[in-house]
Amino acid sequence: MTDVIHLLPDHVANQIAAGEVVQRPASVIKELLENAIDAGGANIKILVKEAGKTLIQVTDNGKGMSVTDARLCFERHATSKINSAEDLFSLKTKGFRGEALASIAAIAHVELKSRRQDDEVGTCIKIEGSEVTSQEACVTPVGTTICVKNLFYNIPARRNFLKSDTVELRHVIDEFQRVALAHPAIQFSLFHNGSELFQLPEANYRQRIVNIFGGKTNEKLVPVEEDTAIVKIHGFVGKPEFAKKGRGEQFFFVNDRFIKSPYLNHAVTAAFEGLLKDKAYPSYFLFLDVDPKSIDINIHPTKTEIKFDDEHALYTILRSSIKHSLGQFNVAPVLDFDRDSSLDTPYDFSLKEITPPKVEVDPNFNPFKMERSGGGYTPNYRTEKSAGSWQSLYNGLRSEGTESFSERTQVEFESDQVTGNLFGLKDEGEAGGTTFQLNKKYIVTTLKSGILVIDQQRAHTRILYEELLKNITVTSAVSQQLLFPLTIQFSTNEMELLKEIKDSLEQTGFIFSEVKKDGVEISGIPTLISESEVEILLEQLLLDLENEVPGAAFSQVDTLAKSLSRGMAVKSGTALNIAEQQNIVNSLFACKESSVSPFNKPVFITLTVDELDKKFM
Ligand code: ADP
Ligand code: MG
Repeated sequence: MTDVIHLLPDHVANQIAAGEVVQRPASVIKELLENAIDAGGANIKILVKEAGKTLIQVTDNGKGMSVTDARLCFERHATSKINSAEDLFSLKTKGFRGEALASIAAIAHVELKSRRQDDEVGTCIKIEGSEVTSQEACVTPVGTTICVKNLFYNIPARRNFLKSDTVELRHVIDEFQRVALAHPAIQFSLFHNGSELFQLPEANYRQRIVNIFGGKTNEKLVPVEEDTAIVKIHGFVGKPEFAKKGRGEQFFFVNDRFIKSPYLNHAVTAAFEGLLKDKAYPSYFLFLDVDPKSIDINIHPTKTEIKFDDEHALYTILRSSIKHSLGQFNVAPVLDFDRDSSLDTPYDFSLKEITPPKVEVDPNFNPFKMERSGGGYTPNYRTEKSAGSWQSLYNGLRSEGTESFSERTQVEFESDQVTGNLFGLKDEGEAGGTTFQLNKKYIVTTLKSGILVIDQQRAHTRILYEELLKNITVTSAVSQQLLFPLTIQFSTNEMELLKEIKDSLEQTGFIFSEVKKDGVEISGIPTLISESEVEILLEQLLLDLENEVPGAAFSQVDTLAKSLSRGMAVKSGTALNIAEQQNIVNSLFACKESSVSPFNKPVFITLTVDELDKKFM
C-alpha cells in the first residue's frame, strides 16, 4: 500500500482557514479595521458597496508597509505583532495570528497600496485566490489602502449563503460601531453605495456614543468609574427610564476589544434591579481594562467571548460600581438621612389592613352627552391609553372604510356607556348567542352543540393580523392625519430597516412626512392605533424585524403584520362589553384561519355537550 497522507497546497489550506476567519463581509471589515488601528491610523475611512459583497475598501493613515512586508503580509502566519509565545501574554495589539490577510486574499480579489513615511514611492500589490497577479511601485499617500472585491468569488456556496444586503449591512454597521466606540480618538467614516452612513470626528467616549447613537443619547448617560487592582472600569450606563425593549445598545469592551458576556451582562442587570420595567434592557457602554495576563486571549478570532481568571470578582465589582453610579446621580433611590421621621407610618398602623377608598359612581352618568349639549369641547377624563385601545378595538373590527367620520366619532363617544349598543348590534347580536367574559381574559360563547372558550388577546391579534396583511397586499388602509407631526428618533441601523419597510407601513396607514438620517417625522397614522402607541409599536417592530433576519420580502411583510397586530391587540385583563365580545367572535370566524394566532398558538377551545356529559358520569 502506498502512503496516503500529503500536505495540502497553500491555496487550499488558506481557503479552509478563510472559512473560519471570514464568514461574511462584516468579518472582513473587522479584520481590516483592526489592522488599521494596530498600524496607528488616526483617520480611517471605509467604503462599502452592496453591503460589502462587491467592495470593501479600508484606508488608513497609519505607518504603512515596506515593499517586502507588503508582499509578506498575505502569507499565512505572517505577523509583525508577536515574535514568541511569551508575547501572547502581554498582547497590546488586536491581531497576532497573521491569518486575516492570507484568508481574505484566498477568497477575494484584493488590492493593497501602502507607503511608509520615509519611502518615496509606495507599493501596489494585486492578489486573487492567493495568487499575486501584479506588484509594482505606485504613488500613494502615507498609510495603507486595502480593497477587497468580489468576496467568495471562488466559493459560490459561501457566496450564496450570504443574506440580503440589508442584513449584511447591519452586520457591517454593528462591527463598525463596536470598533468606533472603543477608539474615540480615531476619526472614522463609513460610506455605503456612495452615501455617508457615519462621519465620526475625533472625540471623547461620551461624544463618540452620542455621534453614533444620536443627540438624544447624551442626557441618558450616567457615567461609571471604578479603579481596583483587578479591573479598571469606565464608561456609561443608560438611565433606567430610557431602558429599551431590545438589547440593542449593550456594549462591553475588554482592553478595547468588544466582547459578549452574558455573565457580566447579568451583573449590570442586577445593578438595575427594581429600577426597570418588565422586559426592558438597560443600555450600557462599559470599558474594562484588565491585565492581559488575566484573560485567555487564545480564543477563536471571530468569537467575541473571553475567559477571565476571576470572573466572580469582576461581577461583584461591576455590579457595585454601577449601583453606586445610579445612586450618585440620583437615578436610584438612596438612603435619605435628612428625612423627617415624623412622617413615617407608625408600626401598629402600618400593619393594619388597607381599606381601599370608595368612590360613588353614577352608572348612568355620561360625560359625552354633557359635552355635546354644552357645545364646547371639554376634555374627557379617560386616559388616552384606554381611549386608544377602545378605538383600536372597534376599528380593528369594522368592515373596512365604510363608515363616515361622524359615525366613527359617534361610536367613540358612546364607547363609555357599557350598554351593549356600541357596534349597533344590540338586538341581533344578543339574540343570537350569549357571550360573557371570564377573568377579563376569555370570551365564553355558546354553540348549538357546546361552548367555545376564546382567548380574547389571541383572537384580536389574529383579526388585526389578517386585516393588516390585507392592507399591505391588497387595499391600503385609511390614515388619520395628525394635527402635529410626530418626530421619532432612530439609530442608523434602525433607519436602514425602516426605509426597507416604509412602503408596507404606508399601506397600513402611516404617512412619513420626512425621512432623515436619524429619525422620521410622521404626519399620519393608521386609524387602528392611537398616537401614544406609535413609538412603542415602531420600536418593537424594528426589533422584531432585526431578530427575524428576513430573507424574502414576503417574510418581512409577515413580520410587520405580526408585530403590529401583537402590539395593537386588546390585552388580557381588559374588560369587554357584550358587543365588543360578540364582535371579536364574529370577526374571528370571518378570518381565513381562525383557530390559531399568527404566532401559532390556539385561539379557542371547544367543549361539546358530549364531553360535558362524560364529565358528569
Ligand atoms: P495580524 O494582524 O494577526 O498580524 P494580518 O493578516 O491581519 O495578521 O496582517 C498581517 C500583517 O500585515 C500585520 O502583522 C501587519 O504587520 C501588516 N499589516 C496589515 N494591515 C496593515 C495596515 N493597515 N498597515 C500596516 N501594516 C499592516
Ligand atoms: Mg490583523
